[in-house]
Order: sequence, then structure tokens, then C-alpha cells
Amino acid sequence: MNPKLSDRVNNMATSATLAMAAKARELREEGRDIIGLSLGEPDFTVPEFVKDAAIQAVKDDYHAYTPVDGYAELKQAIITKFKRDNNLNYTPAQIVVSTGAKQSIANLAQVLINPGDEILLPAPYWVSYSDIGKVAEGVPVIIPTGIESDFKVTPEALEAAITPRSKMLIYSSPCNPSGSVYSREELRALADVLVKYPNIIVVSDEIYEHINFTGSHASMAQFEDMYNQTVTVNGVSKAYAMTGWRIGYIGAPEYIARACNKMQGQVTSGANCIAQRATIAALENPPEKIQYMVDAFRERRKLILGLLAEIPGFKTNEPEGAFYVFPDVSYYFGKTIDGVHIENASDFALFLLDKANVATVTGEAFGSPNCIRISYAASEKDITEALKRIKEVLS
Ligand code: PMP
Ligand code: GLU
Repeated sequence: MNPKLSDRVNNMATSATLAMAAKARELREEGRDIIGLSLGEPDFTVPEFVKDAAIQAVKDDYHAYTPVDGYAELKQAIITKFKRDNNLNYTPAQIVVSTGAKQSIANLAQVLINPGDEILLPAPYWVSYSDIGKVAEGVPVIIPTGIESDFKVTPEALEAAITPRSKMLIYSSPCNPSGSVYSREELRALADVLVKYPNIIVVSDEIYEHINFTGSHASMAQFEDMYNQTVTVNGVSKAYAMTGWRIGYIGAPEYIARACNKMQGQVTSGANCIAQRATIAALENPPEKIQYMVDAFRERRKLILGLLAEIPGFKTNEPEGAFYVFPDVSYYFGKTIDGVHIENASDFALFLLDKANVATVTGEAFGSPNCIRISYAASEKDITEALKRIKEVLS
């Protein structure tokens, strides 16, 4: 806290995922053999056809500012992708390309939230939703869910949290951090509540769309009566291993897309031109091209669930998508292990870092204080070794 800084930033939490990754990096530089299972970042390289498109874009002299909301060709590729993969119809005026899905969500908070507006967050929620909302002077309203409902919000719990100030609902499916996937029927049941409250805009974060082991992905905007109330957020970070390339996008009601465009015009001037050209290639190709990564994540999920089952005190749901497991570790709260007293999930994650040299993220950052998040976007060797170490320090 520095009084010279704004209350806005002083009151803001540091991103727990990025903080843990930074800490792991720091310890590694000090010579510690840390296995990082904290960051949700594919360990694959970018597919060759995407790299080729980026190299070609440099050679073709793409260098200038792009349209603020993205190249017309990229918007067209996004429109085609939405139709092909999600059966969603959008026009170019409804699409905005941003510097990552994170910025897409920040734009939405900035253009939709007035001070005091409530943002409904079924927990566990992705770490940045609540602070992005707070920076926009919104009030996060956390709706707890537990392992017994597979960490999914029920229509009853959602409706009970709605007030006249409710302005936005944000969730991800597949979910970071729980890996839960809402079925079409489950989304329909939530939609039946939401249509009664047309002031609430639903932000459907579908960035893990392709990393889904159920074989089907449902989008809230597919329901005709929700289309005008929903913004679909997506991006290339996860499915194409393009986290550092920083491209995300939305499909939205036109007035919202226009507002995001206006916001970006003052804040970033739009996303990187080379990465935008590469994203055209990524999206124009069918998702089968990246199936090898999804298959690897499926294998790793099997591996990590098997290893977790051997560790006492870890209660885990079976994640259906993304690349995280989110075990409830409250069994260890109040216990002292190896001289360290563990009171909560943050203590537990720090204990694993200190004693097992394994970086995970506390569930507190995701609004679920009984859990920790373990990313399995890592090699099978690292997953096996990490879980072996965790088992050892807990036994
Ligand atoms: N939403 C979720 C659920 C995420 O896990 C992430 C992680 N990166 C993002 C959004 C942001 O992605 P991007 O890299 O496109 O900003
Ligand atoms: N989304 C990833 C995660 O949850 C990357 C880090 C971040 O953007 O916060 O780990």
C-alpha cells in the first residue's frame, strides 16, 4: 500500500495465478527445483501453420495500427468460427478483437458497470473476474457452490442472489478452476431464470471451449431468448497455446461491441497486428488440427486423477474440461505437518511450495477457500514427480 497510489490500485488484489508463477520463477532462479503447476498455460508450442502465418505477416510488412476492433478478415474468421463451432450468428459490428480475453472482460466491465452495480460470480470463478469488476466500481456477489454440485451454480442459488442492482453474471464453461462443463440443459435452466431479469448481461467465457472431454460444448447465446442478453468471450490463448500472443475476442449485442470498441480506442488502439494475422490462420483451420493437444490433456487428466486418489485428504470432482483439478483440501486445515501449521488453503499452497517444491494456487483466489488449484498443463513427467513429492510431504 502506498498512499501516493490510487485507492483503485491499492484496493486491488494481485493476480494470484500470475503472482504464484512469478514466485516459482524467482525460486527457480535461486536454484530451487520448483515444478510449476500454478499457471494455466499449455506447455505446447504454437502450431506450425499459425507460426507460418505470423512470419508471413512480418514479411508482408504488416506494421501499422489495425482497426481498433480488429482486421476485417479476422472478424470474418471469427464470425465463421462462431457459426461453425457454436452455431452462433454474428455480424462484423458485433465482434471486437482485444489483447486477450482478459482485456475483453475488462472492457465489458468498464462499459457495463456503474458504481455499485452487482456482478454475480458463481464460485469458484476465474481469479481476475472479481478484481476486474471492482476496478470498474462494481460489487462482486459471490454465489458459493461445492463439490456436491460439481461446482456448478443451480438456478435456485442464482435467483436467490439476484437483486435490483444485479448487472452482470460472469462464468466460464469449461470452468477455470474447477474443470466443470455446463451442459445445454443446465444452461437452459439458468437461462429460464435470467430471461426474467433482462437488465443482467451474461458474460459467457468460453476460452476453454476446445479443451472439453465431454464431446459437446454449449453456449448461452445459442438460446434465442438469451442472445441479446449475452456476450460470448473467447480467444486463442488456450486452444492454440498462444498465451503470449495476446488475442481474445467477443461476440456481443451491437451496442456493447460499439462501446468496447470506443473503450479500446482510448486505451490500447487495438491488438497486435502480427498476432491478429496469425489468429486468422488459427481460426480458419478446423479444430481437428489442435486435437492432439486436447488428447494429451485428456491423458494427463487421467494421470493426475489417479495420482491424486492415492493422497489422503484430497477430495476431487472429475473435471470435464480445461486443464485444472480443484481438490478440496480442508482435511488438512488445523493440522500441523512437519512443523508447519496449516490453517487454510493459502497456507496449504505455501506449504506445498516450501516443502514439496510444487507451485499450485490457493482456492481463496477463486472464491473457494477449501480448495487448491493444480494445473495439469505440464508434462507427464512433471505431473508424476510433483504428485510424488506432494504425497511424500503429506505422509
Ligand atoms: N478467462 C479464463 C477463464 C482464463 O482462464 C483466462 C486465462 N488466461 C482468461 C480468460 C484470459 O485469457 P487471455 O490469455 O486470452 O487473456
Ligand atoms: N488464465 C491462466 C490461469 O488462470 C493464466 C494466468 C492469468 O491470466 O491469470 O492460470
